Amino acid sequence: MSDNPFRELPSVTKVLAAPALAAARDRHPPDAITATARTALGAIRTRLAAGEVFAVNVDALAAEVLAALETQAAPAIRPVINATGVVLHTNLGRSPLHEDAARAAYEAARGYLNLELDLKTGKRASRQGNLRASLKLLTGAESATAVNNCAAATVIALRTVAQGKEVIVSRGQLVEIGGSFRIPDVMAVSGATLREVGTTNITRLSDYERAITSNTAVLMRVHCSNYRVRGYTRSVELAELVGLSRKHNLLVIDDAGSGQLIDLTPFGLPGEPLISASIAAGADLVLFSGDKLLGGPQCGVIAGKAAIIEKIEKDPLMRAFRLDKMTLAALEATLLLYRDPAKAVREVPTLRMLTTPLAVLKQRSDAFAAWVRAIPGVTVGVWEDESFVGGGSLPDVSVPTMVLGLSAEGLSETELAARLRTGTPAVVTRVQDGRVLLDLRCVFERQEAELLGALTQAVSSV
Ligand SMILES: *Cc1c(COP(=O)(O)O)cnc(C)c1O
Repeated sequence: MSDNPFRELPSVTKVLAAPALAAARDRHPPDAITATARTALGAIRTRLAAGEVFAVNVDALAAEVLAALETQAAPAIRPVINATGVVLHTNLGRSPLHEDAARAAYEAARGYLNLELDLKTGKRASRQGNLRASLKLLTGAESATAVNNCAAATVIALRTVAQGKEVIVSRGQLVEIGGSFRIPDVMAVSGATLREVGTTNITRLSDYERAITSNTAVLMRVHCSNYRVRGYTRSVELAELVGLSRKHNLLVIDDAGSGQLIDLTPFGLPGEPLISASIAAGADLVLFSGDKLLGGPQCGVIAGKAAIIEKIEKDPLMRAFRLDKMTLAALEATLLLYRDPAKAVREVPTLRMLTTPLAVLKQRSDAFAAWVRAIPGVTVGVWEDESFVGGGSLPDVSVPTMVLGLSAEGLSETELAARLRTGTPAVVTRVQDGRVLLDLRCVFERQEAELLGALTQAVSSV
């Protein structure tokens, strides 16, 4: 090693001339290659300056630059096999779309469409027209509109009807959905003033009544989507809030969260409030997500009184919150599936996964385990376990499910899970009691071969 460590540092030209990078020129733009090589050299210079002593190998450096280039060139967002059993997994994109909806989004994306044009008259038309008709039919509401998510729906609804006024909410319902969606913060953003009433576990109608002032605009119910208050509890039914609101000329907003359009109790799931029930109970506005139990694209639906919806659509924020053409197309296609509720349960992926009978999961798991057993070094068992709905829906409801419990010779469970996660395709699993658990509930049948391949790959290089 020479006295001057920087003398060891190869020139950019030398790195670029290394065979690995010379061969990369047909796949990566020259400027990107040069910039990435400079960055890599810069990092080495920093380490040398810090007094680290090491030899610099040009070919190794070129390989490193090439790997960085390949990472840059591939989209960071890629498909994942969800083997967690959590149907609405927020980190994995919540609801997968039905093929019809996915295709509608794809077609909308790659060409032109009658987004704001009435093809019969040739005149400009609202992009929400058809959507409104579907939503009215499914919710029983006078009118409806949709924005980018339920958080946006809450902000624009409160802003339209309660800016500068008070909104009364029970302390038992001051939910944080995750990220920065907290009812008090959303209220502040909308320009409304939150008036909390009751306690965490008990809120009575008289609490709301006492809090009403001349500046009150709204009584709001927020669905406890991701938690439950249990034990000695009391909350006020929506119909009671509606009764109170009529006496005082106020509005009732129901932030329903999940957006359940179909009763899933016949399939063993709990009786979540249906959107149509909130409308029937007299709520002036009901807000819900499109990508939770509805099983559509990310969006937020506002259903309710036509006059209020019209006012909301005139708010300048609507321009900022409105749906893009791909979402609109996917939402329309999803809602069309709901025209036949039985078909929706059978075909909308979120609903189908949630309602898959245990016997079917057992059969699939046993068949898959037989394949897994053929991989050398892998031990697998199949047993009954529990999964959760996730995504801010049905928080305390576990669904009985089947899991495959895996262990691989020479790999810890966390190592195996990490290899599956970083493989191609990426597979996200659960790690529990020293094993990697695969739940096939959210694995599409078309993905089973790929999953088996990913597993084989993960254990092959031990
Ligand atoms: C999930 C949820 C929201 C937020 O919905 P996004 O579509 O994720 O913005 C708001 N309110 C309730 C009650 C929810 O459950």
